[in-house]
Amino acid sequence: MEQRIASLRRRFRSLGVANFLVKRLSNIRWLCGYTGSNGILLVTGRDAHFITDGRYTNQAREQIRGAQVHIYSGGANVADAFIKELKTNRTIKFRGRIGIEAPFMTVDFYQLLKRTFPNCGLMETENIIEDLMMRKDESEIKSIRKAVKITDEVFKAILPQIKPGAIERDLAAEIIYLSMKSGAQNAFDPIIASGPRSALPHGIASDRKIGKNEFVTVDMGCFLDGYPSDMTRTVVVGRANPKQREIYQLVHEAQARAIAAVKSGARCSDVDAVARDYITGAGYGDNFTHGLGHGLSLEVHGRPTVSKISKTVLKPGMVVTIEPGIYIDGFGGVRIEDDVLVTENGCEVLNRTPKDLIEL
Ligand code: ZN
Ligand code: ZN
Repeated sequence: MEQRIASLRRRFRSLGVANFLVKRLSNIRWLCGYTGSNGILLVTGRDAHFITDGRYTNQAREQIRGAQVHIYSGGANVADAFIKELKTNRTIKFRGRIGIEAPFMTVDFYQLLKRTFPNCGLMETENIIEDLMMRKDESEIKSIRKAVKITDEVFKAILPQIKPGAIERDLAAEIIYLSMKSGAQNAFDPIIASGPRSALPHGIASDRKIGKNEFVTVDMGCFLDGYPSDMTRTVVVGRANPKQREIYQLVHEAQARAIAAVKSGARCSDVDAVARDYITGAGYGDNFTHGLGHGLSLEVHGRPTVSKISKTVLKPGMVVTIEPGIYIDGFGGVRIEDDVLVTENGCEVLNRTPKDLIEL
């Protein structure tokens, strides 16, 4: 843990800051191990201070490594309590510019900091810690593998329940239930999108009844020790018609080609282009309406982004999703998503769930 805080400190000079204020909870977790839902971390040039409220006293003292813990009480919000602590606690010494995570600061907190410490200067930053987190160590990869395994198993278990008359919401509930019974936490509301709804890339499960010969897209994931899995499969309930088959094969092939392009040294935009060019060549470019994938970190949508505009170069230890899709309004859609570990010479697909068209 202390190495992680040190790796942030090593970025100070190039960022032009002397301190860094961490608001995003998953970033706090990565830096010092805290898994609670309230707190702020300040990393100075030589130490680190974490503040939270009385509900987390024991948890913070047990979990936190590499930072001094300060507990506040009295019902103030964490930002106000943090400012007060900085002003009054003499053990917290900081000077010079403070780096802040711009996407995670409220306007209130920003203004308050500026007013209270007018001489410090605030440097707005983005993705600094998220980028430090991109390359996973062995224990992080192990957690992702476990999460992926649970997702594979839960998908297999619910497959027989995907049938005509089944309700999307019931399947989603079953996925959450089985994942939690396996020791995981739900990562996001499962997407169960059947029939024409499968044309919605993010069709959260509805009350719709699944019909015969329809596409059903299932996008599901869980957290294990804070690390996520994220997998999508599209199946046909019954027999696929030629158009369903055509679209399925295109997405399947696009995904296979993109996975073959994932390796250390590859640029994310180039990997995106492999899948996108293939789908565009088949005439469905306009129907692939999102990026190819995203990193998995302590958030489901982590760094790096795998899209047209992402210049990040893949390195061993990064874990990204590869999830091309084709969505046709009024007809339906297909997405296939796997979690992929970048290795020195290529990559390892972590999911074991088959990808040949499943006709139930
Ligand atoms: Zn997904
Ligand atoms: Zn995803």
